[in-house]
Amino acid sequence: MDGVEVTVENYIAGQFVHCRRVLDSYCPATGKVWAHIPDSHKLEVDAAVTAAKRAFPAWAALSVEERAKYMLRVADLLEEKLEEFVEAESRDQGKPLWLARTIDIPRAILNFRHFAHTVPHELNTSSVHDDKGVFNYTTREPIGVAGLISPWNLPLYLFTFKVAPALMAGNVVVAKPSELTSVTAYKLCKLFQQAEVPPGVLNVIFGTGPSAGQALVEHPDVPVVSFTGSTATGKHIAQVTAPMFKKLSLEMGGKNAAVIFSDCDLEACIQTMCRSSFINQGQVCLCTSRIFVQEDLYDEFLTKFVEAARNLKVGNPHDGSVFLGALNSKPHLEKVLRYVAYAKEDGGQIECGHGVDHLALPSENKEGYFMLPTIITGLNENSRCMQEEIFGPVTCVIPFKTEADGIKKANNSNYGLCASVWTQDLGRAHRVAHALKVGTVWTNCWLVRSLDMPFGGVKCSGIGRESTKDSYEFYTEVKTVCTKFK
Ligand code: NAD
Repeated sequence: MDGVEVTVENYIAGQFVHCRRVLDSYCPATGKVWAHIPDSHKLEVDAAVTAAKRAFPAWAALSVEERAKYMLRVADLLEEKLEEFVEAESRDQGKPLWLARTIDIPRAILNFRHFAHTVPHELNTSSVHDDKGVFNYTTREPIGVAGLISPWNLPLYLFTFKVAPALMAGNVVVAKPSELTSVTAYKLCKLFQQAEVPPGVLNVIFGTGPSAGQALVEHPDVPVVSFTGSTATGKHIAQVTAPMFKKLSLEMGGKNAAVIFSDCDLEACIQTMCRSSFINQGQVCLCTSRIFVQEDLYDEFLTKFVEAARNLKVGNPHDGSVFLGALNSKPHLEKVLRYVAYAKEDGGQIECGHGVDHLALPSENKEGYFMLPTIITGLNENSRCMQEEIFGPVTCVIPFKTEADGIKKANNSNYGLCASVWTQDLGRAHRVAHALKVGTVWTNCWLVRSLDMPFGGVKCSGIGRESTKDSYEFYTEVKTVCTKFK
């Protein structure tokens, strides 16, 4: 087939199952179809849930050590095939190879190793009530079939951040990765098969949200659903699952602020702002898209930030000197460019960036979905670019006066995923961190992550947290056992 290098198949009951209906999957850096993926419907989802239900009792009965053995085997195989996965992730998603090699695939390996080693038994509690003559203790039990839905921006990284804890807690899984980035999840299924993970423990269905995803989240035999993706889809899933009383975790969009005070370490701050605004082409839910700078530092910050952004190279993901690869899809690039047009309509000034010079790109990339890192100033706090998630390499810079003003401006958002605060004043760093209405605050850094720390958002950014303890709590039900001894 012309240009098609990978034909993805569903993974059900330990077998690869061909689907006659297929969808094209594009390589963002070339704009060409490079994979075919199944266009799965309810039928395929039903088969996967049936296989998972069948596998559940035996998997749940294994000891933690036995389950960990399988997960560690998968991690080792993934590490052996690191370069193959790096290449596939970059081809499928558009990100530079170095990024997939240093962040995405290593983190996927870590997800399996971390959750294999850290089942937090201490979550089980016990207590004696002498006056009532009873001894109480709690146990945590796996729930059953976990339905896991993941997005396209960090494909294998976020997919495995759900699969690993769900399985380690003793559940079985039916997962659906994004239809835009299915290839590494498909390759991972091969590793599960090679690691001889019992059939039906992990099932992966490929296809679109409205057909495959919808059939999964509304399936009556899927009592627990974990979703990462946009707020609009999360809201829809909440509406579908609420009447069925499913356990639900939602990790959704962000419109993250940086609050930069004039006493900050400016050099470190600018370096981090380049990374936090533009890494992965600005397509990380945690990316900074509203930068508030104290007014006496504003001009100097802007000059240096614009200069640094102009030096970030955009282009072929295989080129090691490239910082930004391609945006994930043509419709997404068009959406991001539309926001730059809105900014102009709303009186904003484009300080740098916007469209690329396609003629300057290598010949194979001329049809790719590239865009320059773009900095916008002069916008009203309530304008579209300041309020809506753009999810691309676009960031807005706005001055503020006092600490209270900076906090107020940063909190003027329906989203609440994360923020960063830049100051040398320790007291102020903590005061501002406490005042910001978000799930995570980084002070003088950004995206330094420990899997032990709760991750998630408030307001329209999400419900629930993911971490060693939070994920284990989410993927289990707690039961109290009360025994009379007097
Ligand atoms: P999306 O909501 O379009 O899709 C996410 C997943 O949901 C995909 O697998 C999709 O097929 C599926 N889906 C769509 N409709 C569905 C339905 N009706 N039922 C079930 N599943 C359905 O999001 P996206 O464009 O893939 O990802 C980008 C978004 O994800 C951004 O908003 C970003 O902020 C967010 N995100 C959040 C986090 C976080 O941890 N908070 C992390 C990464 C990305």
